[in-house]
Amino acid sequence: MTGIDSLRNVLELERRKGCTDRAVIGGLDKYLHKQAGQIRETINDLQLLRAFDELNLARSSYGSYSLDERKRWMTGVFGWLEKLQKPGEGCQPSAVGSQKVAAEPRQRRKEGLESPITVIKGISTSIEKKFARLNVRTVRDLLHFFPRRYVDYSQKKPVSELVEGEEQTTIGTIWQARVATLGNRQGTEAIVGDETGNIRAVWFNQPYLAKSFRTNARIAMSGTVGLFKGHKVFESPEWELLADKELIHTGRLVPVYPLTQGLYPRQVRKWTKETVDGFAWQLSDFLPSEVKTRCQLLDLPTAIAQIHYPDDQAMAARARGRLSFDELLLLQLGVLAKKRDWQEGQPGNAFRIDQEVISRFLQCLPFTLTNAQERVLQEILDDLKRTKAMSRLLQGEVGSGKTVIATLALLIAAANGYQGALMAPTEVLAEQHYTNIRNSLSQVGGREPRCQPGEGTIRRYRKFLSKPLTIALLIGSLSSADKERLHGKINQGKVDIVIGTHAIIQKDVEFRNLGLAVIDEQHRFGVLQRSALRQKGFNPHILVMTATPIPRTMALTLYGDLDLSVIDELPPGRQVVKTKCLEPQDREKAYTFLHRQVSNGRQAFIICPLIEESEILEAKAATTEYQRLSREVFPDLKLGLLHGQMPGPEKEQVMRHFRSGELDILVSTSVVEVGIDVPRASVMIVEGAERFGLSQLHQFRGRVGRDKEQGYCLLIPEKLSPEARERLHLMERVHNGFALAEKDLELRGPGQFFGTHQSGLPDLKLAKLTDSHSLELARREAMTLFQKDPDLEKAENQPLRQQLSQAWSKDAEWS
Ligand code: ADP
Ligand code: MG
Repeated sequence: MTGIDSLRNVLELERRKGCTDRAVIGGLDKYLHKQAGQIRETINDLQLLRAFDELNLARSSYGSYSLDERKRWMTGVFGWLEKLQKPGEGCQPSAVGSQKVAAEPRQRRKEGLESPITVIKGISTSIEKKFARLNVRTVRDLLHFFPRRYVDYSQKKPVSELVEGEEQTTIGTIWQARVATLGNRQGTEAIVGDETGNIRAVWFNQPYLAKSFRTNARIAMSGTVGLFKGHKVFESPEWELLADKELIHTGRLVPVYPLTQGLYPRQVRKWTKETVDGFAWQLSDFLPSEVKTRCQLLDLPTAIAQIHYPDDQAMAARARGRLSFDELLLLQLGVLAKKRDWQEGQPGNAFRIDQEVISRFLQCLPFTLTNAQERVLQEILDDLKRTKAMSRLLQGEVGSGKTVIATLALLIAAANGYQGALMAPTEVLAEQHYTNIRNSLSQVGGREPRCQPGEGTIRRYRKFLSKPLTIALLIGSLSSADKERLHGKINQGKVDIVIGTHAIIQKDVEFRNLGLAVIDEQHRFGVLQRSALRQKGFNPHILVMTATPIPRTMALTLYGDLDLSVIDELPPGRQVVKTKCLEPQDREKAYTFLHRQVSNGRQAFIICPLIEESEILEAKAATTEYQRLSREVFPDLKLGLLHGQMPGPEKEQVMRHFRSGELDILVSTSVVEVGIDVPRASVMIVEGAERFGLSQLHQFRGRVGRDKEQGYCLLIPEKLSPEARERLHLMERVHNGFALAEKDLELRGPGQFFGTHQSGLPDLKLAKLTDSHSLELARREAMTLFQKDPDLEKAENQPLRQQLSQAWSKDAEWS
């Protein structure tokens, strides 16, 4: 925390305590006398400096004042602090990183934060292009380009105390360095020593280093010490010559950035350091100081500096705490505002609930609803009856029977003379819904014999609807003539239920009177898509469905704009997918098993390991695995490949082939997760299973065993730590998605619930790493702010308001 910030915090506390001089132990004066000098150093505006001197904090006698005098004094100091806060004036709000940097104001750069990163020394236009691949274009982006983790090289030891096998850092003098033959390649060898002794260090394949290692230069080395012929040796350690500058590669917590091809850690560290030192001071802190104080958060520039180059683990954690708080707060505020807009903005359409329509539909189903389905249906009907538009999230495990509930709701909309829409994340899913919904509706009716492609008409609902019920499928791959025809019909109200993909929310689709919109598999759509769909009608009811069980705290945070309904029960007689966690060396057995199943006419999934840092790497790895499996393991079977880097239509194509049985095995990355229904699939092998969350694994295995045949899920970990083993063994015993989700939240934090597919939500980079406690904290603060100042109109909330609109506009596009 900077001097200014702690001053502000202390004074605020003192004021809250009624100016009784109890905010700091030993009294305020003592504190001020000590801090004044340091604060003064950070002021770089002459006028403010003069005003500061007039306050005379260095010789304050607050303790001897009367209560009134104290209050007046307080007003004076706060007045000064306020002037200080105005952008473009006064002192820089924060020192950057460690004390050392703060003391070097000459590093401060005046170019704006929106400057291209080429203003950083050493970033050429070709490097700029590489950064662009990581979405880093401006200085501001680079400040927000966070390390994924740190290597802890902070344990410095004298040479004599270095021990074999541990990561350590030592600082010494280079006595000698030369090019040497190591193994059968050229490398560099050096002798480095301090007053306690000498050690040999070698760098394989890097003979050019020898030139940089001048004799007598001071060097810091971090890495693992090994033994060679009984002597300790540093093997290819990170190194850094000690000029006067701060260490960035060694001797500290060293940041590890998520890189892309052609960017190297050492360079990137140099650039981020320079950026942090030069620019972090310009970040204006948008959090009201009251919130910062109450939640004990770092100020923004410090948090940014510390997340890159933390003083220690505790500071790294505080930096993460502050930045993830920001993400969650902005998320919450946006979501709360949206909820209010929808619910208070305009009245919705109250539906009349015709029990006869409902019982007619239910009677014709080949099953009866489960209790959970009944309950949820009632919750939905209660919403639909009201003039306040429904905003409901329906959670229910794979196979829990959400579709039938949605279908009934759509039917009721139609019976009320409104149109209904159902939006699914992929064409295959949309088609699947179209077929199922048309079938279950025509159980009642009986279909018209002849229809246009992608349309079905059901005659017997005439009784309730005064005309046949028409259902249409609207997906991107329709011919433009068909699309146009459909758009026309939708516009004229000739279609009652439209089922489709994002195609539904395109600009040229205009409903005549959309009364209900259902969104399936919520995690692929965000708040903004919901809002787009909402705008397609006159404040229609919205029902969002997801098969990802989300613990309650999480659901409230992510979907705070929605009410919750849960189907927590599966239809009777559902088999559980037999799950087994294998040892890595048992892979052959898994293959044999899979082969046998395929020979019996079944199909299988093989899921490749998750590579969180890069979808490109993940796709590459999946491709390699696909080739290996096709050539070496299953040359007699037909394999397909699915990964996130494939263009949409290609993905759809592969899924279609798999569904139709043209493929035996689908090798896939985690993209397969969304609710695809392949009844003949009976085996799922998950490679690198320990890298996935339990919820996600559960989601995967929901893809198999969808008909009467037994489904199997084989988890093959890469490396099995005791924790991972315990986690994976849970999969064998627990078959309830909610229980697994709670366990996930407990064991791994909220990360995986903020999937990478939260389109329409502000970027969540760090919130993933926090715990559920910080979720609650951010949520509480957001509610407080929202209650006190719903439109953020107060002066002190202006910066926050600006930040909020920025955060929520970034993802405003959907396609
Ligand atoms: P999800 O919730 O995953 O979307 P679906 O709605 O696709 O699940 O339902 C899965 C299967 O279960 C469908 O074939 C559906 O017809 C069937 N189903 C739904 N409800 C019941 C029930 N109460 N009893 C028996 N089968 C049901
Ligand atoms: Mg479904």
